[in-house]
Amino acid sequence: MARQLDHALQRMVLRVNPVHRLKVETESQMEMIDVTAGIRRVVKESGVMRGMCHVFVPHTTAAITINENTDPNVRKDMIRELLKTIPMQDDYLHAEGNAAAHILSTLVGASQSVLVENGKLVLGTWQAIYLCEFDGPRSRTVLMRIMAE
Ligand code: ZN
Repeated sequence: MARQLDHALQRMVLRVNPVHRLKVETESQMEMIDVTAGIRRVVKESGVMRGMCHVFVPHTTAAITINENTDPNVRKDMIRELLKTIPMQDDYLHAEGNAAAHILSTLVGASQSVLVENGKLVLGTWQAIYLCEFDGPRSRTVLMRIMAE
């Protein structure tokens, strides 16, 4: 009985505050894809005027970050420098061949939180939210929950 109530409550909560999903098809082994527009759309559709948007990638070789939205060279520099720190080949023990991608995913991080004000994401003029692909090309999912204050 308690479990049935639990499930009913869970369904209710999910209906009120669902996890939003954005599907992203990446095209290269390593790249940073601007997902800001998709996240803005989800925030708008949620109707939340003031609160927080939590963005999370359920992947072990991808990440989420916020950075410069204008000069694409910033993204190229970032990937190049990350690879100097964590090279693709380095006698890694992980037999799958994507150890660097796993390490980069942890270094950059699987989530970001962005404030929502007046129904919009609060980002600086030059900021965008990027899905970082470190082991593509693949189908990726970006999960979001928008919480009202
Ligand atoms: Zn692996």
